[in-house]
Amino acid sequence: MNKIMTINFDKIDYDLEKIGKEMHDLMTELFPICRSITGDGVRKTDDILSQHMPLEIHEVPTGTKVFDWIVPKEWNINDAYIIDPNGEKIIDFKKSNVHIMSYSVPINEKMTLKELTPHLYTIPDKPDVIPYRISYYKENWGFCLTHNQFLNLEEGEYQVVIDSSLKDGSLTYAECFLPGETDHEILVSCYTCHPSLCNDNLSGVVLSTLLAKEISKINSKKYSYRFLFVPETIGAITWLSLNESKLSNIKHGLVATCVGDAGNSTYKKTRNGNLYIDRVVTNVLKNSGDDYKIIDYFPPGSDERQYGSPGINLPVGSLMKTPYGDFPQYHTSADNLDFVKPVGLADSFSKYMNIFYIIENDKTFVNLQPKGEPNLGKRGLYRTVSGQQDGYESELATISVLNLSDGNHSLLEISERTNIDFNLIKQSADRLVESKLLEELNSK
Ligand code: ZN
Repeated sequence: MNKIMTINFDKIDYDLEKIGKEMHDLMTELFPICRSITGDGVRKTDDILSQHMPLEIHEVPTGTKVFDWIVPKEWNINDAYIIDPNGEKIIDFKKSNVHIMSYSVPINEKMTLKELTPHLYTIPDKPDVIPYRISYYKENWGFCLTHNQFLNLEEGEYQVVIDSSLKDGSLTYAECFLPGETDHEILVSCYTCHPSLCNDNLSGVVLSTLLAKEISKINSKKYSYRFLFVPETIGAITWLSLNESKLSNIKHGLVATCVGDAGNSTYKKTRNGNLYIDRVVTNVLKNSGDDYKIIDYFPPGSDERQYGSPGINLPVGSLMKTPYGDFPQYHTSADNLDFVKPVGLADSFSKYMNIFYIIENDKTFVNLQPKGEPNLGKRGLYRTVSGQQDGYESELATISVLNLSDGNHSLLEISERTNIDFNLIKQSADRLVESKLLEELNSK
């Protein structure tokens, strides 16, 4: 990855090392907050995010019907712990919020180990990590702990305390809308419902935040940008159900999750599999110089399954690093601030910005000297000494743009056909326009 990236929206240079650190610092600030699909953890998170971008925060009351679902009761938690027969606090929510099964109902009881065990969750083949467990739609309570800790529990009386509440309240989601010159939108969606877990999905939250922050500084943008910070599944469904009238504006979209580990980029295509966003992401990955993977859409996964449901059918794919489920730290306490590194986050930032750049700048041009190849030498657009390697690539790009600019090939298509990086194609097109050899189709 290059340290500095120039994105020519407004000729801004991005210091990727600095941006990676900024994302990781924000993740460190958000990490301790106990988030779930509702409750104060999401509110606190949105409050912090609102310091970085213009953020509209919405509260949708418990009981609201959203498509086939109902907004659930709001869950909040103050404390939770277990005291062992020796009077020692052995599990403490205040040390790690992953210790408590999300949506656990309140309890304050003494019980035997046998009574307690059905409420304890471990991963026997990963004995050193705490699993992340939820029970959103069935009232239950539970604690998560390492399997090694579980094996050391003695017979005797345990004091079990969960100081939580499950009451009518609301579901909180946030959105940052950045208007462009048209009402055509690019959607980036991430989820804010996971507690102290980093790749899945604080990485998506901090990436979306920095993207929104940087896009908000760009003056000349064709597209409007919408960044959604919603609890996974129920939040996406809630947003879709309340915003059906806006859906036709969304032309391209990505779900940002698992974007900060050290793995290669993985793109999960849209349900259709052959849409414009699929081509743009493929182009960026192909020209990145990095290894990457492109996988077909599969119905399970994150919120692309809501955006890609048949009645919604939005053009939304998902650009990740290592997908959920494919890294051993997934949904455990090991998905932490060490697992996600600034450099991984910065790499995803650069790829997302390059995607936006192509979408913003993909235009179709017409060659104004189409009979034979125009004389580039006399216009200073050709190397003076032939055979020199210097400038060869951009010359190839120039010749390709002239040859394929018959009004039927956009710059992205030229890049696809020639395997020349989009940025180089775009720069050549700009030079040719300056030299009056090229004109945008329908520009008159
Ligand atoms: Zn998850």
